[in-house]
Amino acid sequence: MQNKPIVVMKQMPILVLNSGSSSIKFSLFQASGSERSKLFEGAVDGIGTDRGKFWIKDASGKKLRDETPALPTRNVAFKLVADALGQPPFPYPAAIGHRMVAGGPHLTRHQRITPEVLDEMELNVAFAPLHTPIAVYIMREAEILFPGVPNFVCFDTAFHTTIPEVAQRFAIPEQYWEKGVRRYGAHGISYESIVYQLGKDVPERLIVAHLGNGSSITAIKHGKSLDTSMGLTPTGGLISGTRTGDIDPGVLLYILRDITGGADELETIVAKKSGLLGTSQLSNDMRELRDAVAAGNQHAAMAVAQFAYSVKKFIGSYIGVLGGLDMLVFTGGIGENDIAARREICAGLEHLGIIIDAKRNDVRGEAVISSEASPVLVRVIPPAEDLLIANHAYKMMQEA
Ligand code: ADP
Repeated sequence: MQNKPIVVMKQMPILVLNSGSSSIKFSLFQASGSERSKLFEGAVDGIGTDRGKFWIKDASGKKLRDETPALPTRNVAFKLVADALGQPPFPYPAAIGHRMVAGGPHLTRHQRITPEVLDEMELNVAFAPLHTPIAVYIMREAEILFPGVPNFVCFDTAFHTTIPEVAQRFAIPEQYWEKGVRRYGAHGISYESIVYQLGKDVPERLIVAHLGNGSSITAIKHGKSLDTSMGLTPTGGLISGTRTGDIDPGVLLYILRDITGGADELETIVAKKSGLLGTSQLSNDMRELRDAVAAGNQHAAMAVAQFAYSVKKFIGSYIGVLGGLDMLVFTGGIGENDIAARREICAGLEHLGIIIDAKRNDVRGEAVISSEASPVLVRVIPPAEDLLIANHAYKMMQEA
């Protein structure tokens, strides 16, 4: 299949697709010169269930679709999206931008999707096993359902290609480095979008904590990733909703010898049954855990304390590798909304220059939360991942 020539228009509608294991989020931007306006956004969620969610809202927040269809397969889910977006009031896209978690060692640049790029992603499914199959399916399907529209892919791993080799390498035999076993990191599009939003305010030494259902943290020097907590897969680093985060390899060996299901069972344990869920024995959702803590649940209290402790430890170590700190940014569902988590993480870091103001911290969404006296500026900034992908797609259209 040959890629069609690119047609550049003055007003360019750009569709952004972000597929997860059970959802497809989308937004439609109008791009022109340096102007970007989001026209619509929506999602299909609950793929694999007979009562999913499908909604689309316009820029004013008005819901244009709000349904609970059966979504037995990803095919049904994406067809629903494509059928809806293929007719008025939605402008037909001039380009489609896709988000991809990881493409393996050779695919790390944001780029136009070609048949070779798709094949390479499929070959490297091991680098993002939960995400790649559905993402590649959506990319292939988008070419069929939106014929002639060029597709572009943005990789989360792209932002972390600047990490120096000393931090990319694990201390394991050389043959694994050669096979591509190294720190790729994740949430790169979120981090890139924070740097983009900060613009000329990007300081020399920045730490961004992306705390959500999956959590990671990145040390950023002069706008470039210097180190990040997730490793070969998102299981490493900070404690996440269902993932262990960094763990003594001896624990993995202990579990492996204790179970009968081998690597697959071990993967389920470390990626789906651990983290906040594992410790709390209750939930991977921070809001539910906060309610449980308020009701006196000790396991939930331990899970929440462990989470804050793991973030605090990384902040300390990243201040070390950055040689100090100018700004700390919280983002992601927990970073933006969980006032207590920000307070717990920052408590005790005053001697490192991180002093938050209790009143300023009592906020959800974009804000400066450090006190006037704080040497480090502490901010909350929601990520703008879809805008970033639209920007890249627009730029790549101009360059093509
Ligand atoms: P994902 O990694 O799936 O994108 P999000 O960034 O949406 O996840 O973050 C989801 C997490 O944010 C959940 O643990 C959720 O409980 C938490 N969260 C959202 N709102 C709040 C809130 N008001 N207080 C505490 N936690 C919150």
